[in-house]
Amino acid sequence: AKQNGRGIVRVFDDSMDESIRFRRRIEGGLSQSIKKGELSLAYQPIVAREGFEVVGFEALLRWNTDEFGPVLPDMFIPIAEESNLIHELGDWVLGESLQVLKDWPGQYVSVNFSPRQFRRHNFVGHILEFVQKHGVEPSRVQIEITETAIFDDADRAAETLYRLRQMGFRIALDDFGTGYSSLYNIRKFALDCLKIDRSFIDGMGRERESAAIVHSIVHLGRALGLGVIAEGVESEAQVQALNLAGASHFQGFHFSLPIGPEQAREMAEIRYLV
Ligand code: C2E
Ligand code: CA
Ligand code: CA
Ligand code: CA
Repeated sequence: AKQNGRGIVRVFDDSMDESIRFRRRIEGGLSQSIKKGELSLAYQPIVAREGFEVVGFEALLRWNTDEFGPVLPDMFIPIAEESNLIHELGDWVLGESLQVLKDWPGQYVSVNFSPRQFRRHNFVGHILEFVQKHGVEPSRVQIEITETAIFDDADRAAETLYRLRQMGFRIALDDFGTGYSSLYNIRKFALDCLKIDRSFIDGMGRERESAAIVHSIVHLGRALGLGVIAEGVESEAQVQALNLAGASHFQGFHFSLPIGPEQAREMAEIRYLV
């Protein structure tokens, strides 16, 4: 039994070592990624229900490495988030997206900020410095944050969001419905829109629960005077169901995959999809 126990402990230790080593390699790779030019952004259109007008694009980070090939953000963002690397990556994303935005006739860019970025000291001043440096109107920048970023320290977050919104930034609450927002507290936050998490859109045609959740998020959003963006829209049937539910905006493969900056500029100029 003792040997057995030791065996188990050793297996456990080895796998721990392995995952720590893997994490270190990712971290090492990420810390070099900017100067090696391995990062890029893909832009996915956000369309209004009326006429499928392209009103903005979400910037999505891509990392292509010699060592591991393309690595998905769901894999490396959490690792960056656990170290200070997230700040470097985030600054790169913001600078790059503000640069690309200038080529679009009027659309906004929607940028993801992790909880750690949002909670950094002087987040407001930091963002403001970027838009001033690039000469971009804050109203053309949408800040996407998740529930996790704002519900931990709700009063401080509410103050930060209020100041950002005063300056003209748009605020979107991302992955809405997956976190632990209290519907009561949501009033405290200065928001422009809710983004319904893709998992609910995906389940809409199959489970009554998902459809019910989508409907209640849309109702809540409208009652609070917010826009409601449905993300992960993949089919015409979903578009119709979301139209009935009353969603104001759509985003997903049905309209467009995330695309490169040149394609995004063309789409921004054409302005209407389908
Ligand atoms: P997210 O913010 O929820 O982004 C939406 C994700 O859904 C993107 O995955 C997008 O490519 C994908 N998607 C869009 N439409 C569809 C669809 O119709 N069907 C399906 N199946 N998927 C769709 P992606 O690009 O892999 O990004 C994953 C997550 O990584 C993002 O989720 C976001 O949380 C994070 N992320 C991406 N870029 C950044 C960034 O610059 N900064 C931070 N902090 N996080 C980022
Ligand atoms: Ca997002
Ligand atoms: Ca999302
Ligand atoms: Ca997500």
